[in-house]
Amino acid sequence: MEKTPFKAESKRMLEMMIDSIYSNREIFLRELISNASDAIDKLYYRALTDETLTFDKDKYYIKISVDKDNRTLVVKDTGIGMTKEELESNLGVIAKSGSLAFKAENEATDGHDIIGQFGVGFYSSFMVADVVTVVTKALDSDSAYKWESSGVDGYTIAPTEKIETGTEIRLKLKENTDDDNYNDYLEEYRLRSIIKKYSDFIRYPIKMDVTEQKPKEGSEDEFEQVSEEQTINSMVPIWRKNKNELTDEDYENFYMEKHYGFDKPLQHLHISVDGMVRYNAILYIPEQTPFDYYTKEYEKGLELYSNGVLIMSKSPDLLPDYYSFVKGMVDSEDLSLNISREILQQDKQLKFIAKNIKNKITKELQRMLENEREKYEKFYNAFGTQLKYGVYSDYGMNKEDLQDLLMFYSSKEKKLVTLDEYVSKMPEEQKFIYYATGGSYDRIEKLPQTEMVSDKGYEILYLTEDVDEFAIKMLVNYKEKEFKSVSAGDLGIDDEKKEQSEAEENENKVLFGAMKEVLGDKVKDVRISKRLKNHPVCLTADGEVTIEMEKVLSQMPNNQNVKADKVLEININHDVYKSLKDAFENDKEKLNLYTNLLYNQALLIEGLPVKDPVEFTNDICKIMV
Ligand code: ADP
Ligand code: MG
Repeated sequence: MEKTPFKAESKRMLEMMIDSIYSNREIFLRELISNASDAIDKLYYRALTDETLTFDKDKYYIKISVDKDNRTLVVKDTGIGMTKEELESNLGVIAKSGSLAFKAENEATDGHDIIGQFGVGFYSSFMVADVVTVVTKALDSDSAYKWESSGVDGYTIAPTEKIETGTEIRLKLKENTDDDNYNDYLEEYRLRSIIKKYSDFIRYPIKMDVTEQKPKEGSEDEFEQVSEEQTINSMVPIWRKNKNELTDEDYENFYMEKHYGFDKPLQHLHISVDGMVRYNAILYIPEQTPFDYYTKEYEKGLELYSNGVLIMSKSPDLLPDYYSFVKGMVDSEDLSLNISREILQQDKQLKFIAKNIKNKITKELQRMLENEREKYEKFYNAFGTQLKYGVYSDYGMNKEDLQDLLMFYSSKEKKLVTLDEYVSKMPEEQKFIYYATGGSYDRIEKLPQTEMVSDKGYEILYLTEDVDEFAIKMLVNYKEKEFKSVSAGDLGIDDEKKEQSEAEENENKVLFGAMKEVLGDKVKDVRISKRLKNHPVCLTADGEVTIEMEKVLSQMPNNQNVKADKVLEININHDVYKSLKDAFENDKEKLNLYTNLLYNQALLIEGLPVKDPVEFTNDICKIMV
């Protein structure tokens, strides 16, 4: 029979898998059992919600059997089965696992590791088998089909006979090599331990024929080999178990089994609520940012079960956007099975659960912040940006919840600090929480605008992410202390110098007026700087829109061309100022030159583009000759 080639990406994945020196092959069984369980879930759900279907609990099971002579391992389920089309679309291409996309994003990383971390569903069979055969009959269908493949060169599909609805996956195990003993997967004890390890909580019985030595009937000292079918798994879902019975490893295994992430969980949270609304939940905070996290493709959501039956694999209504990184599941007896997606959104119970979950996550994060700082920082590095978006979005509705979870880099501590830590260390006379914005900590460190505030001994928060200043503006204040940019028009630092400056300002009005004329619309004003010490010049902004915000906004797709009202500040204690004055009095041409040079320098310091770099360099040459 002619073979249908796999879709390109599946082929690559298969090759990777087959060639990989794979240390954790045993997870193929977890994958097959998980698929079997999913298939029974689908049927079970149909039986519960469709009155024309009868419901017989004993009918739902998974059976593992071996044929040692032929070196085959069979995983059979009584699930919903697959039609011919479903065979094509589900097994001809790597489905939703996302693993290949992950690989593509991280070409530099070694593909094997990635597979090792989370498996790739059905395809992991090829890690242990030369030939994989799937015999399946779909619910409501009269015909059965056989799908077969021996790896990268494609697959065949042909009609076959099968009486029961469901699927049988037959693995013809690879030949043993010096390093790998595939016969292992024919041994009862080995299979049993793999099932126990990864699939113990599966809701349906995983059956296996187990051979045991039993005393011969009517005899005291004679034994015989008796083979009988046993259920290997305890079938208690992990979320129904008592927390005390569970180890970190159990939670980790569940995370892997469920493919909640490519990584390990950083933290798990097991919730059992037994009040007005009853529910159990297992939630995870992943260790790493998913590769697609900050893209439109990323979908938030938790698995939703109604009394143990999966009703939705990603219910977005259970999580606020700012906690969209949380993975896991929720099971509630109080939800109706027949509930539709639209009604679910309105559902009172669900809303209650969502709110409850949100609060638990907040509490857990606070607990981590207080007691496990290092872990929290790891979390914050991965998902802190999302919290800041959370502060900013929905018109700041959630800022109260989130503000205590925020951290920013501190000029003094040289590490991340919370707002509470900042405020508690403020000297009494300090009125504001100061922050500076820029592309990196290093750059901000060197910003002339920070000079005055630093000089006063005040701590400055360094804001390096696009969202930072927007979040800060949304907060307005923290513990009654207002936020203030070091570039703000008025820094709120009282100084005797101030009066004096005003006097000087009058005196210099004419000079600055002339400079403003040179610059035209490029700046709103030219002023004496009250914040500069060593640098001759800097740019600040009047009004609500800061220079950093202008930068961020100008990159947005629907750029509204929002501009900051830029002010060129001159340090009158700097020698350059003398030159300016001199030029103003004696040489107008020179004043033009100096003004343009200073303006362009200020732009460069801000990380803004100089409009005409050639002219700028020509100007520099002019003063050199
Ligand atoms: P995933 O389980 O993440 O969707 P898999 O590679 O494990 O990815 O499986 C691909 C698809 O093949 C499943 O989504 C399912 O539709 C189908 N499938 C696999 N095994 C079975 C089975 N035993 N019964 C019915 N369908 C199955
Ligand atoms: Mg799967």
